[in-house]
Amino acid sequence: MAERITARGVISRVPGEPGVVEEFRIDPPGPNEVLVRILASGVCHTDLSARNGVFGIEPFPWLLGHEGSGIVERLGEGVTNVKQGDYVILAWRAPCGECRFCLAGDPAFCANSLNAEPRMTTMDGIQLTPVLGIGTFCTHTVVHSHQCIPVSDALPPAQMSLIGCGVMTGIGAALYAGGVRPGESVAVIGCGGVGDSAIMGAKIAGATTIIAVDLDPRKLEWAREFGATHTVNPNDGDAVEAIKAITGGFGVNVAIEAVGSPRTIETALWSRDLAGRCVIVGVAGKEARLDLPVAQFFDRGGKLSVSWYGDCLPTRDFPILANWYAQGTLDLDRMVTRTITLDETDEAFHAMERGETLRSVIVMA
Ligand SMILES: [Zn+2]
Ligand SMILES: [Zn+2]
Repeated sequence: MAERITARGVISRVPGEPGVVEEFRIDPPGPNEVLVRILASGVCHTDLSARNGVFGIEPFPWLLGHEGSGIVERLGEGVTNVKQGDYVILAWRAPCGECRFCLAGDPAFCANSLNAEPRMTTMDGIQLTPVLGIGTFCTHTVVHSHQCIPVSDALPPAQMSLIGCGVMTGIGAALYAGGVRPGESVAVIGCGGVGDSAIMGAKIAGATTIIAVDLDPRKLEWAREFGATHTVNPNDGDAVEAIKAITGGFGVNVAIEAVGSPRTIETALWSRDLAGRCVIVGVAGKEARLDLPVAQFFDRGGKLSVSWYGDCLPTRDFPILANWYAQGTLDLDRMVTRTITLDETDEAFHAMERGETLRSVIVMA
């Protein structure tokens, strides 16, 4: 009979206050669930939003983290897709196979993604809410077995963890949501971890003009290292005009917005050529509003789409990205700006806000 275990993790009890490393209890994995020992976890902006109470007061306390890699330690009943000892990347999309999208052959839009039942509680008995149904700022977590995507254990945990959220989101925005084709021009607005991943995705897809747009000169320098062919700093003048000047006066085929503000969405919309595609991956605040001149928008044609997780299918895409990393196509080493311990996550949030890091990654000792 499997027993309950005690784990350690970063728990956020009070909205806006730093999360604290605490012990917590994990019940044995139920049917189709697995216990995973975390090896590494990226620190993503969504964790900061959870800590700050952006997702509402009710689900506190949160177990932070959702971008992780680890080892499958214990299987619940009926698990067949992974085995004990498998090295896995955790996914926050695990298609159910039964919803209207899955049944129609569109599992990347699954409306009922699989998660484990609530198995984790604080030592004083309060049920924890793991961020995006995962929880990775911790020694162990319980997830649905279909949230586990095995990859080669020759690959480093810190780099692999990033495939679980930010890198996949950016690459998928270029490859799938944006449908970038060889020879096209792409503008990426906002060059953090997701934006730089979109730049890598555009390069992999064969884009020949890749324009990085950011207010921070350091971010623009990094963007060049990931494959941007041009950079635009809106502090130096109108970004739309600058993008048009680079593209023969026309604008780009694909604009990817990775900030989530009305201002940058406008930049993305108006920097497109005729029939250009705009993909929004930035998460906007609840108060954000867009004032859209509809006739002008119509006259440009093209497409406007919102992409969650780069429209990815983790079972298909995580192994591809892991292979691209192994072959040197995907520069995830450069994405890991800092490695930290479990106790340093709050400082990592501040470093992210100050723009000092693309990704801090917790590496478990
Ligand atoms: Zn589904
Ligand atoms: Zn994330």
